[in-house]
Amino acid sequence: MSRRAEAEYDVIVAGGGAGGVGAALGAARAGARVCLVEKYGFLGGAATASQVLAYCGFFQQGPEPVRAVAGAGELVLEELRGLGMDGEAHRSETTGNWIILLNPEGVKLALDRVLAAHGVDVLLHTRVAAVSRTSERLEAVTLAGMEGRRRMAAEAFVDATGDANLCLVAGVPMRVGDGEGGLQAVTAPIRVGGIDPAHRIDREAIKAAIARYNARGRYPVARTDGGIYTRVPGTGEMWWMIIDLPLHDLSSASFTRVEQSARAMAADYVALLRDEVPGFERAFLAQTGPQVGIRETRHPAARYEMTGEDIVGGRRRADGVARAAWPVELHGDAGKPVYHSVGGAGYASVPLDSLRAQGLGNLYLAGRVIGADPVAYGSIRVMGTAFATGEAAGVAGALGATDGVRVAGELRALGALT
Ligand SMILES: Cc1cc2nc3c(=O)[nH]c(=O)nc-3n(C[C@H](O)[C@H](O)[C@H](O)COP(=O)(O)OP(=O)(O)OC[C@H]3O[C@@H](n4cnc5c(N)ncnc54)[C@H](O)[C@@H]3O)c2cc1C
Repeated sequence: MSRRAEAEYDVIVAGGGAGGVGAALGAARAGARVCLVEKYGFLGGAATASQVLAYCGFFQQGPEPVRAVAGAGELVLEELRGLGMDGEAHRSETTGNWIILLNPEGVKLALDRVLAAHGVDVLLHTRVAAVSRTSERLEAVTLAGMEGRRRMAAEAFVDATGDANLCLVAGVPMRVGDGEGGLQAVTAPIRVGGIDPAHRIDREAIKAAIARYNARGRYPVARTDGGIYTRVPGTGEMWWMIIDLPLHDLSSASFTRVEQSARAMAADYVALLRDEVPGFERAFLAQTGPQVGIRETRHPAARYEMTGEDIVGGRRRADGVARAAWPVELHGDAGKPVYHSVGGAGYASVPLDSLRAQGLGNLYLAGRVIGADPVAYGSIRVMGTAFATGEAAGVAGALGATDGVRVAGELRALGALT
């Protein structure tokens, strides 16, 4: 019996964030039978689990929004538009970069719909917990779901878990953070309700309140400029990025500490708005979570690690299967991001080898786990780029391909790459 006839699926994708959705769509559009496995009860990854309410990386920097991502990412935007969201480029007031604003409930529904339309089987409330492998290939994953554990075999696998959880259980070597003990800060966006929709949010009043709080408060605010905020599309709520915490290591104890600290800080900061900022007299904490925003954990070893020079120099390559167009954004010190622009033509090529795990021929990487040094990581991790690296990993998995030039050709045929 051929391997294909044996396996239930051609491609199994672990993780349903932008990288995983891109991978599932890419593999399905290339003709594969695809199963996507997600540990939460909804898709979207950081956009829906951590209230990261803007897709970055769809456009290059500059006075006009020049597209860097098409294909699967565009299919998702079309679905969002069909649900009444605008899905168009907006210029960030804070950074001047082009972003797409999101409503998390819309994202959940749009992703359900786009995957169903492409015949992808989705298993929610299910996590990849173990693998069986030979010295060169993955054979199957063990899924831990509501019915207990089950084995699922496939021809190819994509790790789009953000935290490299599939690579971890598969024994792929990896770097934690910058490799020298440094992890980018955790940030917990929150939503604040009860604000008069007609009220203009006054940054100067927020800055002054923070300065007073920092002189006496329990949890000094790193973002003394008032943080990043916007109105959540379709609601009067304020989305506020003001809570930053250092992450010391990847233990469950550390994650428990940052989750609980973020909740305590959220309560204090919303009370500060209510007590001291005009227009917030009736403000309440509408939402934290479901979980804090985790910027960085593990980086599995890929066959090529993109470098900061690749991004800053805008390096283009014939084996490029995606475009990284977001400026390098580094969050070493909590609440004090540093940016470096993308050079060259405004994007850097992501080669297929940075989507291929070392040592296992049929394990591909998508989203923020692709091969990247600490500087390149500051660019490639954004969700627009994750849709593109995901789509490329999915197409490569469906074809069993190792040649970036060939995969780039397939992506062009699918309209995913120009
Ligand atoms: C505070 C913050 C602000 C950010 N701001 C922006 C921004 O404005 N715009 C932007 O584009 N990017 C932003 N980013 C970066 C971006 O959100 C992430 O880098 C991006 O979401 C990575 O996509 P991904 O698909 O690789 O991973 P994720 O979005 O993390 O998705 C991974 C998915 O895998 C699932 N999973 C994990 N383990 C398993 C398992 N074992 N089995 C099954 N499923 C599993 C998770 O539940 C999750 O749904 C921000 C990040 C943070 C933390």
